[in-house]
Parts: sequence; C-alpha cells; structure tokens
Amino acid sequence: MPRILLTNDDGVDAPGLLALKQAVAVLGEVIVFAPDHNWSAAGHTKTMHKPLRVEEVTLADGSRALTSNGAPSDCVALAVLGLVEGPIDLVISGINYGANLGYDITYSGTVAGAMEAVVNGIPAIAVSQEFVRDEPVDFKVAAAVAREVAALVLARGLPPDTFLNVNCPARPARVPPEIVVTRLGRRVYRDALVRRVDPRGRPYYWIGGDPPTGIPEPGTDVGAVARGQVSITPITMDMTHYRFLADLRTWPWTEHLMVEDNA
Ligand code: MN
Repeated sequence: MPRILLTNDDGVDAPGLLALKQAVAVLGEVIVFAPDHNWSAAGHTKTMHKPLRVEEVTLADGSRALTSNGAPSDCVALAVLGLVEGPIDLVISGINYGANLGYDITYSGTVAGAMEAVVNGIPAIAVSQEFVRDEPVDFKVAAAVAREVAALVLARGLPPDTFLNVNCPARPARVPPEIVVTRLGRRVYRDALVRRVDPRGRPYYWIGGDPPTGIPEPGTDVGAVARGQVSITPITMDMTHYRFLADLRTWPWTEHLMVEDNA
C-alpha cells in the first residue's frame, strides 16, 4: 500500500487540504503534515534560525495530522528526514486556495512543498484551485483530479528531478473538466507599492495592487485555466537555460578580467 504525505501552505485547518485528504485516502496510507498557519507565498523556505516545533492535531473529519511552525517545505523535510517513520512514496501539496501559474511557482509555498519532496528523491504533485473574488470555492473537481493524477503517478512514476503542477479553473468549461498537459505560461503582476506611516511617523510599505493576470497563450497553464481546462505542467528543478548555453559560452569572459592584488 503506497504511503502518501500531504502538506499545504494555507495551514493545517484549510478546507483544500481536507478535501485532498478525503479524495486520496482510497489510494493508500495518508499522512498529513502541514504548517500551523498560513504560509502562502512563502517560496522554498528552509528554516535555519529558529527551532521547529511539531504537534499532533485533529482535523475536522476527526483524523490525526501533524503540524509544525515551519513552512510547507520544512514540513516535508521534517517528515522525510525521519519524523515520519517509514518510506514515503508520494508527496501531494494542496489543494491551494488560488492558482499557481507561470512565475507563481517561484513564490508558491504549495509548489515548494512539492519541490522539497523532489529534492529528497520523492515524486510529488502540487495542486491549486483558482478562485474568483466573492464567489464560493469548490474543491470537488480539484480533489477528484488530484486523486486521478496521484494514481497515475503512483503507477507510472515520474522522471528524477520532476514534479507535476496541477491547476484547476474556478469555472470548468465542462464537467468532468478537460485535462491538458501544458508548459508554464506568463503571469502579469499588477503589484503596486503602498506607502503608509506608522504612529511614530516612520514609513512602512506593503506590496499591494490588484491580483495578477496572465497571457493566455495556447499550450500554457495560464491559457488552459483561462479556457476552463485543468492544466498539468511537468516541472523540473533544473532551471538551466539550455538553449542559451552555447551563446553564453562565446562571451569574452576573461578579455578584460583583472583580479586586484591586495598583498
Ligand atoms: Mn496558499
């Protein structure tokens, strides 16, 4: 029976995590280890300057879960480094409240949970649910998709260094939704600097602005979700720009290089 570790970045009490847990329970032994608070946009954190505490909690369905004050990536690291006994065959992170498309994956704590699994040699899936402001969020479709994707990954495995980034549209064009394999698209951020003044007269800042949009190119995750399709993007941890390597090697790296002699 496969052993599946679940984490998320919205916190152990998030409804998306519970929906994921209930959906994948049929696939094997499920262990939940998630942060004790919301770490959305935490990125791939490794906590090094404060102690990590771990506690056992009860989820809304009465089942047990582990929680820690660390980031999603810390939870995965703690689990695979021995806090959870025995091997882990698959890590699933989510279901995140909000899409993780294009460059979002570098900010996302959800995706970082999957990255930490891959760093430790375990196949992983990140699952995110797009939402529309002021509309209720339903994780039903995303949970069913997560179960199917997990079953296929358990049966077929993934290449080394690879995880799957799954995004479900807020309004699927069809039910059951179309599932398309995509590449990363381009997010367009509309961040704005918000400057305020504290009671002592010192300025402080928020990175505010409107939610990101994106360029809905065909073949991309941004494009698929915009069309009401579920996107599945294979992500490798190797961010090398291979097509640029040959050109970059022709640059005159040492033509003007001088190292100052401080002796
Ligand atoms: Mn989140």
